[in-house]
Amino acid sequence: QVPLKPGRSLMDWIRLTKSGKDLTGLKGRLIEVTEDELSKHNKKEDCWICIRGFVYNVTPYMEYHPGGEDELMKAAGTDGTDLFDQVHRWVNYESMLKECLVGRMAVKPIAAPKVICLACKFIKEALLECLGLFLYAQGKYMFFSLLYFLFYSYDWFQTDSLVTIVIYTKQKDMNAELVIVDCQDKRLRGEIIVDDHSYLVEVDLDHAVSEDVAVNIAEKVGKVEIILSKKDTIHWKMLGQPWEGHNTFIKRTDRGLFYRKCKLVSKTEVTHDTKLFCLMLPKGTHLRVPTGQHVYLKQIIAGTEVVKPYTPVLPFLTLDFQEPPLHDDVHIYLMIKIYSHGLFTQALDHLQVGDYIFVSNPEGNFKKSQVQTSEDLLLLAGGTGFTPMVKLLNFALTEVSCLRTVKLIFFNKTEDDILWRNQLEQLALQDERFEVQFILSQPTKDWIGKQGKISSSLLSELVKRSKRDSKVFICICGPAPFTEQGVQYLKDLGYSQEEIHAFTA
Ligand code: FAD
Ligand code: NAP
Repeated sequence: QVPLKPGRSLMDWIRLTKSGKDLTGLKGRLIEVTEDELSKHNKKEDCWICIRGFVYNVTPYMEYHPGGEDELMKAAGTDGTDLFDQVHRWVNYESMLKECLVGRMAVKPIAAPKVICLACKFIKEALLECLGLFLYAQGKYMFFSLLYFLFYSYDWFQTDSLVTIVIYTKQKDMNAELVIVDCQDKRLRGEIIVDDHSYLVEVDLDHAVSEDVAVNIAEKVGKVEIILSKKDTIHWKMLGQPWEGHNTFIKRTDRGLFYRKCKLVSKTEVTHDTKLFCLMLPKGTHLRVPTGQHVYLKQIIAGTEVVKPYTPVLPFLTLDFQEPPLHDDVHIYLMIKIYSHGLFTQALDHLQVGDYIFVSNPEGNFKKSQVQTSEDLLLLAGGTGFTPMVKLLNFALTEVSCLRTVKLIFFNKTEDDILWRNQLEQLALQDERFEVQFILSQPTKDWIGKQGKISSSLLSELVKRSKRDSKVFICICGPAPFTEQGVQYLKDLGYSQEEIHAFTA
C-alpha cells in the first residue's frame, strides 16, 4: 500500500464511478480488443489492462490504486490476470472497474477461468506427475499422489427420506477443516480441499431438501458423506443439474471465491475502537476456518461490492488449555478495528444485530505443521495483527506437546489499544510455558513496561531460543511495514526463512 493523494480514497473512486463521467473514453460503447490494440495502451496517461479476457481502461483509476501507480503499470497494455491473482485475487474488480470496461479480447480470451473437466485434469496431472516423477525422481510419493488424483470421484444414493452424496478422497488425514459444504435454496456445493487443489461437487438439486445438512467424515479412509433430508418423499431420478465447476479437481486459486450470507448475532466492545463481531453461518453451511487462515467479508457500499480480509478469532482465550477447544461450527468471531475514516469498517460498524453480511471460504498459506515440530514459538503482533495469533496460541498450548516456550510480543501505540490484555495476563499466570510482553510506541508517562517500535536491538533482546539448538518458529503480523521490517531484522539476527512465517494479504 502507498499513501494516496487527498481525494483519492476508495470512496472517492466509487463516487467518481457513479458520477456518470465517461471513464473509458468510448462513450459507453463496448469494443473487441485485439492483442495488438491492447499493447498500444501501455502508458500512464493511456493504460488498458486485460483481466480474465475483459479489457479495462485503468487510466482514470491510476491515482486511486491502493498499491500505487507503478504496480498497476506492471500490467499496462498486457494480460494482467496472473499478476492480479498473485496480489489480490479477492478484490472485486468487476464491480470496482465496471465503468472502465472497454470490452472483450477479440481472439481467444487470455487466461480465462480455468475450469478443467475431470478427464482433462487426469491427463494433465498424469503427464505433469510422470514428468515430475522422471525429471525430479521424487520417488513413491509422486506416484501415489498421482493415484489420488485419478481416484477422486463421487457417488450418491437415496432412501425415502434422505439423499447421501459420498465423495471418496483417498486422503488419509481428511478432517472437518478440509470440507466446506453449502446447501441453500436447492443449490448444493461441496468442496474438498487437498493442499493447494480442490475437488468440487456443485449442483442444483433435483428436488427441495430441508436446511439441515449432516457431514460425516471417515478420517482414516478419506470418505466424506453429505447427508440431505428430502422435503418430500419423492424418488429422485438424478442428483441435479451440474454447475460449471461440478466434478472438477483444480487449483484453489483457479476457483472464484464463494460467499454465503451470515447473520450478525452480536457486536461487543474489546477496546475503544475495536469490536468482536459474532457471525452465524446459515443452517446448510458446514465451514471451519483453519488456524492461521482468513476469510473475506463482502458488503455493497454506495452500490459497489467492496471486499476486505479478516482473520477469525475465538470468542475468548480459554483459560483452561488442557482440553482441545470445542468447535461449535456455527459461529465465526472477528475482532475488527473500526477506523474513523475507514470505508469498510465504518459500514461494518453500522450493521445492526440481525443484519447480514457475505463471508467467503477461508484462504491463507499458514501450515500448522510448521508449529507442530517446534520447541519455541514466538509471536510478534502489531495492533490487530494479534488476530491470527489467537487461534495459533490456542492450538500451540493445547495440541503441540513438544513446545517448551510460547512468547507473544505485542506492539501497540497506547495501553488502551492492547487487545485482550487481561486474558493474556491470566493465561500467562495459568500456563508456565506462555509469556506475554507488551511494548508501547506512544505510552503515557505512567507506563512502566517496555516502550519503542520494532527494531533490531529490541528483537535481539527479546527473541531467543530457550536452548542453544532448540527448534524455533516465529510468526509475525501487523501493519505491512511493521511485518516487512520485522522479517528483515529477524533474518539479520540469523533466523532462516523456514523459521519465520509472515501473515500478509
Ligand atoms: P480503509 O478505508 O482501508 O482505511 C484504513 C485507514 O487508512 C483509515 O485510517 C484511513 O483513514 C486510512 N487511509 C485510507 N486511505 C488512505 C490513503 N489513501 N492514504 C492514507 N491513509 C489512508 N483488520 C482487523 O481489524 N481485524 C482482522 O482480523 C484483520 N484481518 C486481516 C487479515 C488479512 C490477511 C489482511 C491483509 C488484513 C486484515 N485486516 C484485519 C485489515 C482489514 O482487511 C482492513 O484493511 C481494515 O479493516 C481497514 O479497512 P477499511 O476499509 O475500514 O479502511
Ligand atoms: P496500529 O495500532 O496502527 O499499530 C500497532 C503497532 O505497530 C504500533 O505500535 C505502531 O507504532 C506500530 N507500527 C505501525 N506502523 C509501523 C511501521 N511502519 N513500522 C514500525 N511499527 C509500526 O495498528 P492497527 O491499526 O491495529 O493495524 C494493524 C495492521 O495489521 C493493519 O494494517 C492490518 O491490515 C494488519 N493485519 C494483517 C493481518 C494478516 O493476516 N495479514 C491480520 C490482521 C491485521 P506507531 O506508533 O509507530 O504507529
